[in-house]
Amino acid sequence: MTTALLTHPDCLKHVTPDGHPERVARLDAVLSALEGKDLLRIEAPLGDEAHIERVHPRAHIDHVKASEPDAGQVPLDADTWMSPGSYAAALRGVGGAVRAVDMVLGGEVQNAFSACRPPGHHAETAKTMGFCLFGNVAIAAKHALEHHGLSRVAVVDFDVHHGNGTQDLLESDPRALFISSHQYPLWPGTGHPSETGVDNNVLNVPLAPGTDGRQIRAEMEAKILPRLAEFAPELLLVSAGFDAHRADPLAGLNWETEDFAWITEQLCDVAEAHCDGRLVSCLEGGYDLAALAEATARHVDILIARGQAV
Ligand SMILES: [Zn+2]
Repeated sequence: MTTALLTHPDCLKHVTPDGHPERVARLDAVLSALEGKDLLRIEAPLGDEAHIERVHPRAHIDHVKASEPDAGQVPLDADTWMSPGSYAAALRGVGGAVRAVDMVLGGEVQNAFSACRPPGHHAETAKTMGFCLFGNVAIAAKHALEHHGLSRVAVVDFDVHHGNGTQDLLESDPRALFISSHQYPLWPGTGHPSETGVDNNVLNVPLAPGTDGRQIRAEMEAKILPRLAEFAPELLLVSAGFDAHRADPLAGLNWETEDFAWITEQLCDVAEAHCDGRLVSCLEGGYDLAALAEATARHVDILIARGQAV
């Protein structure tokens, strides 16, 4: 079967101030790197606000919508900005993730990659944070549970920063398992192993600054893969951030591109063992353009190869 790529030109209209790391050029780099690949290319639809309301209160949606300026850029918090077009871009991120779930669970494709921005995994219940407005992956998980009636959905977040938003949005739902590997200590400061969710449904795997891919490979084998096997998800969602790469300017881990490839292979193994190969990956961080492009291309190449093999 095939792999879907979901994106939309609206995601290039979310403009941040000069020098901001989460910039339009990131998505240009990702899409250039995916040109010519054997992907089913789908326009990410605008997300449905009713889907967002499964995790964010109406007041948060209204606040984000009302904050969009008519010109220039405005900050919503220390790191998160909006420009004209940002609200539509954020809705494309939600819609891309939800549509990807529909396509994978509907048997249209084997797996999918949603290449949208702004990212989502830092957005908390009623709080924008860390470049993120809405929790795309958590919304997709709730859609799989509520709309498609699944019983168990797992999220693996390998962005270098803790996925505090996704944890906040899913930790009270024992049908969801949230696993995050991240540099620790590092902003946002959360992600200690003592944070385990309401039903032991959160697993935080901290990684010391300066460590290379050998540590995450060991942690995957010792902790993450056994927990996924025990949970036996019916769908695997991935928060794919590429800022643990050694070239990334925002953090201090030393992963190589091949470490992202290895992790992707492991996650595809989990999906094949438990979910009939059903996996949806969504772009999160990654701020060195060359490393982002190269690691995303390897990630998607593996999704394509594994999708065609099933
Ligand atoms: Zn990050």
